[in-house]
Amino acid sequence: MPQVYAIGLRDRFRGITVREGVLLRGRAGWGEFCPFDEYSDTEAVPWLTSAVEASEHGWPAPVRDQVPVNTTVPVVTPERAHELVAASGCRTAKVKVADPRSSTVEDCERLAAVREALGPDGAIRVDANAAWEVDDAVSAIRELDRAAGGLEYVEQPCASVAELARVRRRVDVRIAADESIRRAEDPLRVAVAGAADVAVLKVAPLGGVRRALEVAEACGLPCVVSSALESSVGLAAGLALAGALPRLDFACGLGTISLLRNDVTSATLSPVDGHLPVPPTAPVPDLAEAHLAGEATRDRWLARLDRVRTLAG
Ligand SMILES: [Mg+2]
Repeated sequence: MPQVYAIGLRDRFRGITVREGVLLRGRAGWGEFCPFDEYSDTEAVPWLTSAVEASEHGWPAPVRDQVPVNTTVPVVTPERAHELVAASGCRTAKVKVADPRSSTVEDCERLAAVREALGPDGAIRVDANAAWEVDDAVSAIRELDRAAGGLEYVEQPCASVAELARVRRRVDVRIAADESIRRAEDPLRVAVAGAADVAVLKVAPLGGVRRALEVAEACGLPCVVSSALESSVGLAAGLALAGALPRLDFACGLGTISLLRNDVTSATLSPVDGHLPVPPTAPVPDLAEAHLAGEATRDRWLARLDRVRTLAG
């Protein structure tokens, strides 16, 4: 019987305060089906394919046994940013910029504090979540790059693939595509358009680890594996992808379990010294009482699962 979980988030994220999903058990272990609410049943099919791969088939053999992950710095004061980065143990920090609550000057101050905490050989990337127009992106990126003492890359400076390509031609900092990559066809489109130097890949929307590996190969870009805010069961699939990619040039965005107030397993995938292990299978859920969803939530998810299963055939 699939288990439906509902776990509060420490802070609102993508407009949600509770993360919900279904844990499926199969011959190979456990998988997680947790498309965000705005995904239609059709768009949720790859998420199911990914959960079925994890639970019924398992993942391809990894080529590394641990993966470096980044720490994430939200819109906070420079002092708080310094503290967060120093405490994380990570050598890479991803800093949120271009937020309505923060000016470019404040973003620069935060970046300077992060650089001080990381030292000269740490890596700093920023994520604009598609907030800028092209000209604003170009001038902001130049300023942020200076303030940070060098940026590793800028994630999704603008909304469209065409805009990303225009920004990329005008700045020296690498451009990473995140929001532009949601479906398996997208990374290729981004690469062909010359719109990015790095592709951010998420296992579930791409339809599983094997499919994501094909996508990585087809687009030919260096890839960063990122989570979709899963529990440790779903994060394990992201780690399986990061573990199996032939090349991994950048830290991954998989150290996200701390954004949830709880986990579905006591074998939680929480980074140590900035790294996570590549697990052979997903951890077994064992915190039933703490994370089980109420009846209405459970019924809603099981009905969604049924509909998506029918579509998936
Ligand atoms: Mg992003």
